[in-house]
Amino acid sequence: MKTASIGLPNPKRMTLLVLRDANQPVKQLHVSKPLVIAVPLIALLSISGLIISLQIQSNQTIGKLEKQIRSQDLRFEAVVTDKDAAIERLQNEVIALSSQSQEMMDRMERVTELESELQKFIDKYGNGEDFGKLSSMSWDMDENDSLGVGGEFIAVHENEIEQLALDTRNQFEEMSSMLDEMEKHVPITLKKARQTQYTLSGTPSEWPTLSKRLTSNFGYRTDPFTGRASFHAGIDIAGKTGDPVYAAGAGKVITTAKDGSHGKYIIIEHPGGLQSWYLHLSKISISEGDTVTKGERIGSVGSTGRSTGSHLHFEIVKQDKAVDPLPYLE
Ligand SMILES: [Zn+2]
Repeated sequence: MKTASIGLPNPKRMTLLVLRDANQPVKQLHVSKPLVIAVPLIALLSISGLIISLQIQSNQTIGKLEKQIRSQDLRFEAVVTDKDAAIERLQNEVIALSSQSQEMMDRMERVTELESELQKFIDKYGNGEDFGKLSSMSWDMDENDSLGVGGEFIAVHENEIEQLALDTRNQFEEMSSMLDEMEKHVPITLKKARQTQYTLSGTPSEWPTLSKRLTSNFGYRTDPFTGRASFHAGIDIAGKTGDPVYAAGAGKVITTAKDGSHGKYIIIEHPGGLQSWYLHLSKISISEGDTVTKGERIGSVGSTGRSTGSHLHFEIVKQDKAVDPLPYLE
């Protein structure tokens, strides 16, 4: 449909011609002029009102959205800050753990050294209960050897990681106190073991009397009875009759006897092949065939046999030949 306005003599009215299809007649509409102006004007006004109100509404919506986005941004920022702080905490935790781990490793190495020393001793000398217990204790430790600081934490939630770090720290503390205990006990046991080793040791190195005063050295001397040059095959140590005489080393008693020259005497054969001789005794406390430990009392100082006074004649015999005992004695 098309409309067209045509000017007419009446200035207050307007005629609108409505042109429809070609074969239909033209229709004329007579309308007043103010109405023709008013109708589009009203339409225009209401459309612009609508547009304005839409604009206001959309501005409000946009404002709200912007507000929401801003607050979400802030929240995201807060979350990111939290994460950064958590990562920093974890990093510090891991650093602390790794330095602890190093310290633990050092200490474990020390304990392991002690343990292997002890193990060598146990392998060599014995099946003593205490040693067995101690070595099994050390083997238990091996289960903890794999404890370390891992790098798998990225895959899990930071709360879990913090818990893990805490657990690990606790485990370290537990291990640390375990090591404290071991460091205290192992050296004591080792000392005991060494004492046992010393007692069992076959080298005649223990001083055989209470007194350490020598009255005659090993070697050539003037014989106290004849005044002639002679060879002294051992050392003479001053002592009161009845003073204890100790085995210089562990071994087997091969001779307990008495004669005019040696008096009452003892010969001990040591595992290394050396013999120790104890002469002029007042008393013999052990028997032939006995096994003695180092430092065990075997008799008493005396002056039996070819002796001018109470003393111990001590001799070490190596491959049937007397040697100077002093280098052997501690
Ligand atoms: Zn002598």
